Order: sequence, then C-alpha cells, then structure tokens
Amino acid sequence: MAGKSKSIPTPRGEIYIPRRRLGGGRLAIIVVAALAAAAAAFFGLAAWAGIFDKDKAAPRITLEAPAEGAKYEGVMEIAGVVADESELKEFTVALDGADCTPELELGKRRNLKFRFTLETARLADGRHELAVAAADARGNRARADVTFYVENHPTLVELTFEPGRVDQGRVLVVKLNANKKLYDLEGEFWEQKFPFYKTGEGFTSIVGVRASCPPGEYAVAVTAYDAYDEPLELKGTLTVRDGGYVEEKVIIAAPEKKKIFDPALEEKKMLEYRKIQSIITRRRDEQLWAGAFATPAEGRITSPFGTYRTYSTGSSERHIGVDVANEEGTPVRAANRGVVMLAEELIVRGKTVIVDHGRGVFSIYNHLAAVAVEPGQELEKGEILGYMGSSGLATGSHVHWEIRVFKWVVDPLEWTKMVYTYRSAEEEEKAEEDVERGYQAALAAAPPEPKETEGGRLKPGELIPDMEGAD
Ligand SMILES: [Zn+2]
Repeated sequence: MAGKSKSIPTPRGEIYIPRRRLGGGRLAIIVVAALAAAAAAFFGLAAWAGIFDKDKAAPRITLEAPAEGAKYEGVMEIAGVVADESELKEFTVALDGADCTPELELGKRRNLKFRFTLETARLADGRHELAVAAADARGNRARADVTFYVENHPTLVELTFEPGRVDQGRVLVVKLNANKKLYDLEGEFWEQKFPFYKTGEGFTSIVGVRASCPPGEYAVAVTAYDAYDEPLELKGTLTVRDGGYVEEKVIIAAPEKKKIFDPALEEKKMLEYRKIQSIITRRRDEQLWAGAFATPAEGRITSPFGTYRTYSTGSSERHIGVDVANEEGTPVRAANRGVVMLAEELIVRGKTVIVDHGRGVFSIYNHLAAVAVEPGQELEKGEILGYMGSSGLATGSHVHWEIRVFKWVVDPLEWTKMVYTYRSAEEEEKAEEDVERGYQAALAAAPPEPKETEGGRLKPGELIPDMEGAD
C-alpha cells in the first residue's frame, strides 16, 4: 500500500426496506400502536419512555459481504442486515477508518437491509478494514468489523502472430497470453473463424491461411470472455504475402472437355465436395500428431501445391494438394499419427483415405489403387493406408495429398519441414519420441492386404450445406 494514495470510493447501491403486507392482524396491531401513540402524547413523551422502554438491546448487525479474509478484484459488494427492537437512528459504514456511508433515509425503520457496491480499482491492493455501525433510538450501539483484501491486476492480454508476415497457403500460429482466465475464445481472420486451445499460460490457434486470400493487410480479431462474463476483444494486423504460386493456362481438347466438364459429373463432384467438408469440419479436441509430418509416399513431386490453372473452357481451379508420383502399388503411408475418418471410393478423388490428426488437422490421400484401412482405425505415423494408383479422375499413378487445418487447405510440404504444435516444448518432445517409435515400427511392419472398397456411398443425410472453403 505504501506510496499509493488512499481514496475512499463513493458507494453505489440501494437500500432495501423489507416489505410487509398489511393483513387484518397487522391492521389491528397498527390500531393498537396508534392508541399507544395517542396515550404517549397524552402523558408526555419523556414519561412514556421512562415507564415503557424495554429496549436495552443493541442493534443486531449481520454482514453478508464482504466475507472475512476474502480477496476481491473488480467490483465488490457490501451487504447485510441491521435489526433492532426499536427505531434505528444511525447507520454508518467506514472503510479503513474513513466514512463511506451511502446516502439513505433511515426514517422510522427498525430493520435495514443494505446492499451496495464498491469499485475496488480505486483501492490499493492489500488489506482493508470495513466497519458497519448502527445505533437505535435508545442509544444502544453496535458495530461489525470485517477484514478483506483487494488484489486488482489489470487484465493484460497480448496477441501475437507467428510469423508476423505469412504467405498465402501457409500456417499462421496465433497466440494469446493473458494474466487472467479467459473463456470461449474465437478468432476471426478474413472470413475464417478459428478456435483456440489452452496452451500453458495462454491460448494458441494454428490457422491455415488460404492460398486464395489476396495479399495485403488484414485485421485479426479475437473475442473472449473473462471470469465476470465481460466480453473482451483484441485486434491485431497481419500481413499476408504472395505465396508465389505458379499460374498455368490449360487448353482442353473437346473429348477431354466432355470428360472433365460433364454436368452430371459436376453434381457428383458437389456431393463429393460436401462429403469431404462434413468430415474435415469435425473437431477432435486431442492433438494426435507430433513432430513433423512425413511425405506419404516415395516418388517424384509432379505437381506442387497452389498452382492456379485457368482452362480454355473459361473455368479455373487451384491445385490444393501435392502430387507424388510413382509406380502403381507403391505404399502410401499416414503422414502422422491419427484416426481414419473415411476409406472409400469417390468419383473424382478415387479411392480416398482421410485421417484426422486432431484439433482440426486432417490429411487426405487420393487416387489410390486400393485402400488398406477402415474408418475408425488408429494409425501410427508411417502406417500403410493404401497403395498408389490412378483411381477417380487421374491421368497417371500418383497420390494427391492434402492437409486441411480447420477445413482450409495449406501446403502439405510445409508440415514436413516445420513442427506445429499446441504442446509445450517438453510435452512435444515426449510426444515426438512416442510418435517416432510408432513410425519406426510401422516402417518395419509387413504391408497390409488391400481392402475392397464400396464406391459412391453418398448419403444426402450426411451432407452439410457448407460451400465455403472451395480453394
Ligand atoms: Zn493433385
């Protein structure tokens, strides 16, 4: 408290008078009281008081708040009840010896219920004494003391981005450090909403910046609630840089055009797109992956992530994965630890496996010759999930590999070079060792048998009408 000037805050609040209904019995008492008052007037007040005064008891003070020895921050409440046999004549509240009685009319009251608030920001941190005193018409006095503590820390919240300038199609790590408990955090960045996970003393969100997000400056807003349910909003500015993706013009010959741009196919593509969206928007709270991801197959990268193709037919699309090409039958392995969410044949993507790595991170493997896993199966990093092929709309044997972060596509190769994690450095190290053991065992294991897949199991009931994310 030393060095801080003491100021007594003005209490805000209200005084409640206990309400009573006047019934028949009560009316009778009032009539009797009126007669007694008339008698008192007749004999003279002093004489009446001398003969009939039976109130020798002091007022009873019951303090409900603050609680003895409790710590407070923000707004605190001072509440209680004073009761007496006769009329109350005096009611005072003192904070650290200085009067801070709220304005009130005592009138001819025998019971007083009080409740007012104090803004503790105007008090120094540390110990404080509150005294409530009352006296009745007979001069009987009472006092209640309570010691409480103020521990006010201004809410300090720091919002940081790693990196401060992010390339299109890459990962942004948003960190929020706060000195207080925060709840229901949600971030928003260019049409993308993202959740946060508790990490040590703060919160983290690993966000995929869409390849289609135009370069420029963007506001990143984070909303949260504090322990008092007060909303908190933080804003930061993020620079998105050009990802340097190649633009290709593709001339499509008439027979090919028919194959790729068949209207019946467009509808099936849409159903397939929605099916994928319905899976990759699910949220598993546990982080299953650890360390860097592994490229899922040996081979040559024939098409990098992000290439923007404009077709002679007028349409355009972006390559949202990485193509690794090799001979048909080359094993395709889980890029990291996860759970199989889908293992079936789709029209465009062919035989497909989707692996959920937790916390909104998914990997997708397409155009397989055969799948070797089933939905629900837990996979170690490196476990064979299928064999390379050219099923679906593919021109040759390759695996089209995608990584999705909260459904948005990012460059998968970045995940093979960088480690993104919600864990602390120590926890991550342990988890990486564990995943590495599984990885080595998976690489040494005998290849599994290919499984029969059913094709085109698209049930409209499973679909969600979510058209965002068509990167
Ligand atoms: Zn591809």
